[in-house]
Amino acid sequence: MNLQEHIRRVLREDRKLSNFLRRRLENLDYEVESGLNGPFGGSNICIFFKNDIEFFESVMENAIDAMYYNYFSHIDDNSGEWAHEYLDMVDYIRKKYQDKIMKHYDDNCGSGSIPIKESIRKVLKEETQGIDSFLIKVMETYPNTGRFIDDIETFIKNSNCKKIEVAKFKYPALGLAVHNGVLFNEVIFKQELPDFLFIIFHEIAHQYQYKKYGDEKMYEFYLDETDVKDAAIAMKEIEIIADEFANRKVREFIKLGFINGPNKKSLFSIYKDVPLYQFERLITQTKDTIKSKNVSGFDKIAELFYNMVKVNTI
Ligand SMILES: [Zn+2]
Repeated sequence: MNLQEHIRRVLREDRKLSNFLRRRLENLDYEVESGLNGPFGGSNICIFFKNDIEFFESVMENAIDAMYYNYFSHIDDNSGEWAHEYLDMVDYIRKKYQDKIMKHYDDNCGSGSIPIKESIRKVLKEETQGIDSFLIKVMETYPNTGRFIDDIETFIKNSNCKKIEVAKFKYPALGLAVHNGVLFNEVIFKQELPDFLFIIFHEIAHQYQYKKYGDEKMYEFYLDETDVKDAAIAMKEIEIIADEFANRKVREFIKLGFINGPNKKSLFSIYKDVPLYQFERLITQTKDTIKSKNVSGFDKIAELFYNMVKVNTI
């Protein structure tokens, strides 16, 4: 059964909150409220959301997503068990917060949608520089992607990715994600489609992380006062989450019938087995480079990363 079918089934049953969720309702409250005080709190919500219902649903999804990553990631997100927890969280949030959240939107934006907002929203969402030529290259290399290229596009745009670029690398990496965009190694276009998509989704996952945690958090590793050991643990965690995220997305595409599954039993988890000392070394080297070049500010640091990996062509 897929998640949709599980949900339908669970909806027909008499449900009772699981003890696991009951003990974490405070955390759910926290996720909803911190969303409202953070990313969903500003006046730009009127630009990003068409109406109060859409706004409410996004706040809810965001909170449930966070709950999944923080407390439920041991459960398969296609299982009946997750469908059950998911629906209980939906019920809980609707009962406790729906009026409040919709009121928040209406107070800030007025009810109903105003045409001008529509066009601003459109422009903002099209902000991913280079996305058109990137998607064309994807379709040229993998002709089968034509059927679902819109899904890839939406996924990238919703991550707030500002720029997407392909280049020859001098550094042995497949991609680089910084706060103002993603750079892919041209060799990824030689991979099988599932692997290719995995790599794309992994880097875009980092864009979602920037969107969620903010640029400061993601650059914290390289601050002078940050302990290298702690930074390595945090960085590995971020990579593992990006791997899991990419895996889920590839599995979703397989389930939707867009692509065939890979022959391997499970897709990659590139970072799970990378020892911590490798992260420590990378962080130390990067810190040294930042220091020796006397670079500061996110834009400059990102530029430094670009120059570290990219072969500059004239
Ligand atoms: Zn990564």
